[in-house]
Amino acid sequence: MKYLKPLEISFEFFPPKTAEGKNTLQQSALALTALNPNFFSMTFGAGGSTRLGTLEAVKDLQSLTNTAVAPHLSCLGFSREELVEALLEYKSMGLKRLVALRGDLPNGAVATGEFKLAVDLVSLIRDVTGDHFHIEIAAYPEVHPQALNATADLVNLKLKYAAGADSAITQYFFNPDAYFYFLDACAKQHIHIPVVPGIMPIVNFQKLVNFSAQCGADIPRWLYKRLEAYGDDAEAVKEFGLEVVHNLCQQLLSGGAPGLHFYTLNQAELSMRIVKELHLDNEKAVAKQELVGV
Ligand code: FAD
Repeated sequence: MKYLKPLEISFEFFPPKTAEGKNTLQQSALALTALNPNFFSMTFGAGGSTRLGTLEAVKDLQSLTNTAVAPHLSCLGFSREELVEALLEYKSMGLKRLVALRGDLPNGAVATGEFKLAVDLVSLIRDVTGDHFHIEIAAYPEVHPQALNATADLVNLKLKYAAGADSAITQYFFNPDAYFYFLDACAKQHIHIPVVPGIMPIVNFQKLVNFSAQCGADIPRWLYKRLEAYGDDAEAVKEFGLEVVHNLCQQLLSGGAPGLHFYTLNQAELSMRIVKELHLDNEKAVAKQELVGV
């Protein structure tokens, strides 16, 4: 198997709300640090967390590991002053990477403030902090659920790229063709940044179904039916899911994906097993060489 190198491997966490959750996150971060990732990212706003929650969780990770941490920052509903304050604080903490997002409002809420789209935030980051931050943006191989159409979604990505984004992380998907056609479309639009696939390990069928419906990720019928058939057998779901996601990652990397970003849900086990089974955990293999393989 041949992969282009160096690969960018990253793991996403969310801010824990309880002492037990905090402990789980710490154990996961320590375990995943051993895989020598390029960075950890910490969500913001998702699931009701606040910027303070993100800030605290980022600080905890900074004191726990040497792995770089990238806070997610979303702009919808925030004032310029609040966003500038966040940027300057993150800069003063020595952080070098941000995931810049629009974010979502709770159902029924109406957006206030001047920042309506992620492109506005990317522009603000460049205005206020110049080239200090490496800016990650979100991309949608299966098209964002609120996009007018696939072309409009791509134009939106191009605007974020033109405003100064350095790389993109995708929403998760289970169909590698969606990703490869998306890369082709990006190339045709002259969007010249790495687009790293977001990978969702499969833990719980019903949660996956609910979350996918919200974020517009497609669960192919065959996968849905197979997972559904396992019913309450959590172990079978986990093992089958692992096989499916491992194969997906292998296809993505073989096809030239520049790395993998794992939505860990604060659990290390599945992401770790996938990375190890793909032999991406060898520090030198991940960090240096241009091309490896048999
Ligand atoms: P944008 O790039 O601004 O675009 C959103 C959509 O709106 C696009 O589809 C675009 O086509 C469409 N659009 C653009 N312009 C217009 C217009 N004028 N009119 C109508 N539609 C338009 N959410 C969180 O709350 N917290 C997180 O930490 C978080 N992390 C994420 C990490 C990744 C890697 C990804 C992929 C998503 C994450 N999200 C998170 C979810 C994200 O906030 C939502 O998908 C949100 O709905 C869009 O954010 P965005 O940055 O992609 O927005």
